[in-house]
Amino acid sequence: MAVTNYCPACGTQNEYISHDGRLRPKCPACGYITYVDPKCAAIAFIVENDRLLLVQRAYDPGKGKWGLPGGFIEAGEDPKETARREALEETGLNIEITNLLDVFFVENGVITIAYAAKRLNGDLTAADDALDVRWFTRETLPELVFLSTITLCQRWVNHELG
Ligand SMILES: [Zn+2]
Repeated sequence: MAVTNYCPACGTQNEYISHDGRLRPKCPACGYITYVDPKCAAIAFIVENDRLLLVQRAYDPGKGKWGLPGGFIEAGEDPKETARREALEETGLNIEITNLLDVFFVENGVITIAYAAKRLNGDLTAADDALDVRWFTRETLPELVFLSTITLCQRWVNHELG
């Protein structure tokens, strides 16, 4: 991982040492140990009139496929705010978080927090990193991307989610 090659405190090239049972980058000059934190994302599951709101991705990974609105959590940001912010950016809708649905951990190391939400107001407009945004019924779901979206949509199709 390139970001851990150099000490953030003094710029010396790090060495990898075993610390607390893991190999971690440590600076041989000043002793600073870099702890690599996981990437975290938040997504919103928005249903209205028995239709689910999905966003068509403009960029890879999953370019052209459909996923729940959401994105990476900024440092210091409440994940609920991430879900609200990303939904507004990608779909034009202001949403209200209603409850926590699930937390996903996938092989690429990203932790994704999924919230149920409802539309407050706003006009449906695809923007930011969304090509298109639409409401889908259980019978007309498009090609999906990401384990979290696929899993939640499967539960919704099975009527395990409202
Ligand atoms: Zn250093």
